[in-house]
Amino acid sequence: MHHISKKEAGGRRQAAGGRTSDVGGFRRRILAWYRKHKRDLPWRRTRDPYRVWISEIMLQQTRVAAVIPYYERFLKRFPDVNALASAPEQELLAAWAGLGYYSRARNLQRAAQRIRQLGGFPREYSVLRSLPGVGDYTAAAIASIAFDLPHAVLDGNVLRVLSRFTGERGNVDSVPVRNRLRAVAEQVLDRKRTGEFNQALMELGALVCLPKQPQCRECPVERQCVARELGMQNELPVKSIRPGAKRVEKELLVIERAGKILIWQRPQENRRLAGFWELPEPDQLAGAKLGPRIGQFRHTIVNTSFLCHVFRASLVLVPEGFHWLAKSRIHRVPLSTTAKKALACLED
Ligand code: SF4
Repeated sequence: MHHISKKEAGGRRQAAGGRTSDVGGFRRRILAWYRKHKRDLPWRRTRDPYRVWISEIMLQQTRVAAVIPYYERFLKRFPDVNALASAPEQELLAAWAGLGYYSRARNLQRAAQRIRQLGGFPREYSVLRSLPGVGDYTAAAIASIAFDLPHAVLDGNVLRVLSRFTGERGNVDSVPVRNRLRAVAEQVLDRKRTGEFNQALMELGALVCLPKQPQCRECPVERQCVARELGMQNELPVKSIRPGAKRVEKELLVIERAGKILIWQRPQENRRLAGFWELPEPDQLAGAKLGPRIGQFRHTIVNTSFLCHVFRASLVLVPEGFHWLAKSRIHRVPLSTTAKKALACLED
């Protein structure tokens, strides 16, 4: 991988996009913009590796606004590695319920147990990268944000900014193009403040260099940007076309008796949502009598978009494997998001 020398960094050079560019100026403008415009997010008020790590894992597949309340609650409940390592699984899953992708919570706990074995939070990229649930991006984010180690992050935001900035016309899902952009990210990284710089590039992608309609007029590096100069900012980055989401309809039953709701638990060997509690579906309860429909909602999981219809129902004989749970205790067990959304229809 090509690293820019100090001499190169100070002067004008040929950037990876083939355009003359001032790397030092690029860094200065990005950082100055970031200091002025960055959002005040709870995980930006700390460099504690435990907190940085939790935030990065939560942000992997969930939007910033949705993560904030979970992040704060989770840290109250599990304030450090030890608390997380020894948390009962049901409590951990209950704290995670709603964020989805529950393997993330399980990996967090396995990683916390590993960190406890190591006797403290690792500071080396290779050890961070070896923790369960930590990939290239997350290891680089923790290494740079918590420890200022020289690792560039390459998430979707950074890929977008750099592919536009350099005018990269290759498919960003392909390995050679990704490697090219990784080399650019390493090259432009401000090695004195890697954590701040990485966050600045990601923030630029999140707030200005938007997927649709980038706000180039607000952009601190507009005058250096190849895509902007060529008017190609809406055509880049080039990506593989992904198949559209599959649509599936399903029915969920709310069966209430004496202030209790009928639910069932997914077995531990389930690939998805193991240990989570669900509402029954009609084909699980042959004898159920459907009552009125009390609501409907959409829920998307990976590449499937569910349209869920929620019905009240009644039942005489409860088959094995189902349990009555008092409504007042519902928030104490890990409920799947669809069950939570369906039960919210009771309040409408
Ligand atoms: S000028 Fe526009 S396209 Fe280029 S980096 Fe800035 S926001 Fe993105």
